Amino acid sequence: MIRLYVTPGLTTGPRLALAAEQAHYLTHVMRLKHGDELLVFNGRDGEWRARIAAVGKRACELEVLDRTRAQSTGPDLDLVVALVKRARLETIVEKAAELGARRVRLAITERTNAERTNVARLAAIAAEAAEQTGRLDVPQIAAPQKLERLLAEWPADRPLMFCDEAGEAPPALEALAGRAPGSWAVLIGPEGGFSAKERAAIRALPGAVPVSLGPRILRADTAAIAALTLWQAALGDLRGA
Ligand code: SAM
Repeated sequence: MIRLYVTPGLTTGPRLALAAEQAHYLTHVMRLKHGDELLVFNGRDGEWRARIAAVGKRACELEVLDRTRAQSTGPDLDLVVALVKRARLETIVEKAAELGARRVRLAITERTNAERTNVARLAAIAAEAAEQTGRLDVPQIAAPQKLERLLAEWPADRPLMFCDEAGEAPPALEALAGRAPGSWAVLIGPEGGFSAKERAAIRALPGAVPVSLGPRILRADTAAIAALTLWQAALGDLRGA
């Protein structure tokens, strides 16, 4: 069944009027018509079965029927990624949604090659990916922040899996073995890598866990996919998969 992420509260009774873009997506792209059913979720109230109750030229109303799944969320896992070129960043956000990241934080580093980023577009990409995966929430996309500031305000209770390609770190699964699951973050650098000063500042964090993703230098998007998968396999919802 088609799944749609909506923002209003979900309950039976009041009809849900969709925004023009979502109405177009359902009726023109997915060709749903009056009476067809779909699933809706908002990241708070679980997943609900709904029916197309009214279709207009650029409008669509849903009748919310019954709840199919109670609200649940995956591991409390953040992906902190240095800003990279737009297409690659969009891929990273899509894959982060598929691999269960709860939040994507964008870092401006010394070698970042993109300053301005369309966070609203990244949020739409995250929502679309979440719709495909069956998850009941959508990763939050936090506005870009200077790495220095991000590290200065780093929460002591959130270990940081630091993906360090400089060759001085143990393999990821070895580094994560025996560590407690819980609230974590994965850090991926820019195409040009972290500067020596940044690397030292990251490693100085009490919760920093430097890891290697293998002998080959991976592109930032590949590194993000590999790191999220390894964390989920070691401490997340891929354990026992
Ligand atoms: N500085 C690198 C270079 O020599 O051009 C490339 C950086 S790489 C494209 C982007 C980021 O992916 C790195 O900062 C790191 O976080 C991660 N990464 C890539 N390959 C890795 C590896 N083998 N081990 C750990 N992290 C890796």
